[in-house]
Amino acid sequence: MENLQVDFKSFFVNSVGNGSKTLFWKEHWIGNDKLCNLFPRLFKLELDPDVSVRERMTLNAEGLFNWKWSRAIPRRAVRELEALVNILSSAKIDNGSVDKVLWSLDLNHGFSVKGLSKVIDDQLLFEFSSHQETIRNTVVPKKVELFAWRAIKKKLPIRVELDNRGIDLHSTRCPLCDDSLESVDHTLIFCSHAREIWERIFKWWNMGSFNYYTINELLVENNHSVPMSSIGNSIWLAIKWIGAYFIWKNRNNKVFRNKAWNGPVALNEIQAISYDWIANRLKGKNMDWLTWISNPAVYLNLV
Ligand SMILES: [Zn+2]
Repeated sequence: MENLQVDFKSFFVNSVGNGSKTLFWKEHWIGNDKLCNLFPRLFKLELDPDVSVRERMTLNAEGLFNWKWSRAIPRRAVRELEALVNILSSAKIDNGSVDKVLWSLDLNHGFSVKGLSKVIDDQLLFEFSSHQETIRNTVVPKKVELFAWRAIKKKLPIRVELDNRGIDLHSTRCPLCDDSLESVDHTLIFCSHAREIWERIFKWWNMGSFNYYTINELLVENNHSVPMSSIGNSIWLAIKWIGAYFIWKNRNNKVFRNKAWNGPVALNEIQAISYDWIANRLKGKNMDWLTWISNPAVYLNLV
């Protein structure tokens, strides 16, 4: 199973309606295979192998998934459970059973993972076709929009959120600093690792010091004392979304691949990819790379 090559192109659009006619483990309804194949350790612990999606995904009185295990989850299966919940946390069952819920996975490439326990949320991009409320910023790709929306709604599979869903993790502390519980606010704003990246971004944009205390202030309100055109406003908001997106990506690289956190490299990546994305969406607006990395604030007045 080492370096198992997973072809994520085989992820597909599927619909289960309210899930009452689909077998949770034995039918292929989410992910790139049946869940009994993806999570064999967990499947062995399942008390009802023929349980339906609907029944397993129904939350119990405490708001937890309705698991029925034959015994406590052993330590070696905890990563499987974490990965399974990561996948499930993005699926939505339509209890009305009138509309079907569709999701598709938007992935560019297959990638190498050491078993599926390392499937990472940011590579699992689910798009709901149903009437989800969302937020818009036309200068970033859809996946960044979706990430920002999930961050604002606190719908990231972060340790505290998983714990709230009844997943017994060995720790709910921040895997980066170990200084605090791992919440969405902590990871994206208060963690010293995140702040380091924000400070670099704010310095790059000459926007003063990083002074945000809530996700809403940071990713929604866009209050600032610097005058900006309306395009400039979208660009600055986009930079903050991209910053948060990369902080999350680096967190996952650390947690799932044990990659060292590197602030300067992260800033370079943010500069390069944001330039690609934004210049591409503002075709004809005359942007150039050297200005982008040395004095991007001029773009705040772009009209
Ligand atoms: Zn931390």
